[in-house]
Amino acid sequence: MAKVKALKCKECGREYPVEPIHVCEFCFGPLEIEYDYEEIKKNISREKIKNGPNSLWRYIDLLPVDHPEVGLAAGFTPLIKAENLGRELGLNNLYIKDDSVNHPTLSFKDRVVAVALSKAKEFGFDTAACASTGNLANSVAANAASAGMKCFVFIPSNLETNKIIGSLVFDPIVVAVDGNYDDVNRLSSEIANEFGWAFVNINVRPFYSEGSKTLAFEVAEQLGWKAPDAVVAPLASGSLFTKIWKGFNELKTVEILDKDEKMPRMYGAQASGCSPIYKAFKEGRDFIKPEKPDTIAKSIAIGNPADGPYAVKVAKESNGDMEIATNEEIIEGMKLLAKTEGIFTETAGGTTIAVLKKFAEAGAFDKDEVVVAYVTGNGYKTMEVLEGHLKSPIHIKPSLHEFKEKVIGQVVESSEK
Ligand SMILES: *Cc1c(COP(=O)(O)O)cnc(C)c1O
Ligand SMILES: [Zn+2]
Repeated sequence: MAKVKALKCKECGREYPVEPIHVCEFCFGPLEIEYDYEEIKKNISREKIKNGPNSLWRYIDLLPVDHPEVGLAAGFTPLIKAENLGRELGLNNLYIKDDSVNHPTLSFKDRVVAVALSKAKEFGFDTAACASTGNLANSVAANAASAGMKCFVFIPSNLETNKIIGSLVFDPIVVAVDGNYDDVNRLSSEIANEFGWAFVNINVRPFYSEGSKTLAFEVAEQLGWKAPDAVVAPLASGSLFTKIWKGFNELKTVEILDKDEKMPRMYGAQASGCSPIYKAFKEGRDFIKPEKPDTIAKSIAIGNPADGPYAVKVAKESNGDMEIATNEEIIEGMKLLAKTEGIFTETAGGTTIAVLKKFAEAGAFDKDEVVVAYVTGNGYKTMEVLEGHLKSPIHIKPSLHEFKEKVIGQVVESSEK
């Protein structure tokens, strides 16, 4: 029996066959996977999940793929109890979901690409493509290489050097477009219409976005089959945020979580230099006013976010909230997580931690509540933003005398101040 029934328009509810399509022909609403939860409930169990692979594929019963071939090691990243950061923020049960160590390219995008390209293979595509703010390009390029697919990635030309190198090394065609992500995305949609490629976040987006649900599935399992009280997660297109919510709710629907399990409050994080979803939420709008991004958090700089309205709805429906962080606060967030937990995250993670801190200080969480912050990318990819914001190494000649004078002397001096 098939677990996937159809694709369904999120706006008008019209149903479509399971094909590489993403918008409703009638109302232009986005299409989403429609599952047969009754059927899934019969097959899924905690025991079966526990005995599954140590990857996101242990949740295959709730993913729109039958024969995964791509991204077989993606997901199942650590959930870290953040004792030190928790102490600093007055939270006794703070956890970091650490997708900065995802496989193979160190960001949460390895989840969505595993699902999208596995489905693309089932559909018979031989070419993978994407419009990317950096991390998606890295992951599509790496996974296409290992899957033996041809690959085109489209990026804004002003991306961080390490994100560009982190795509080029896998030898795809990298197209750097003069413009921001929204320009890249518009161009990619035109290309997707004309060439028969699997654009993971365009024509196979309904499948791609389902991959983000595994961020919820894993956290629930890692907490001993419980949902957290509150979640803090970054918003770019709004897809990840929306799908974390969907993931927790699905576990309840198929009775992997208890029927009366409380669902988490969802807190969203944006950069102040690109905050169209935050603004819609705060102004009580159900539509997005597109903006031109200007922030160091480039991986989440989407000025016209496709799932923005749905993210606003999720924050409202879950009794959550949204906040923003300035460039300075983002850097402080990166440094705070590194200094307290030894986790080096990129600017998107810095945004999440900065917003977590604001909410903690504003008393949004009870001190014993279980709070999970999603760290979605790796700091080694955005090192340049830290230049001028860290102490310098202490330079010495190879002499014990200099070491004592310049290092021990200074360290003692500065700790006496
Ligand atoms: C893409 C990305 C996100 C969020 O993506 P959505 O478009 O909102 O699903 C968050 N963090 C990082 C590091 C990303 O690369
Ligand atoms: Zn429709």
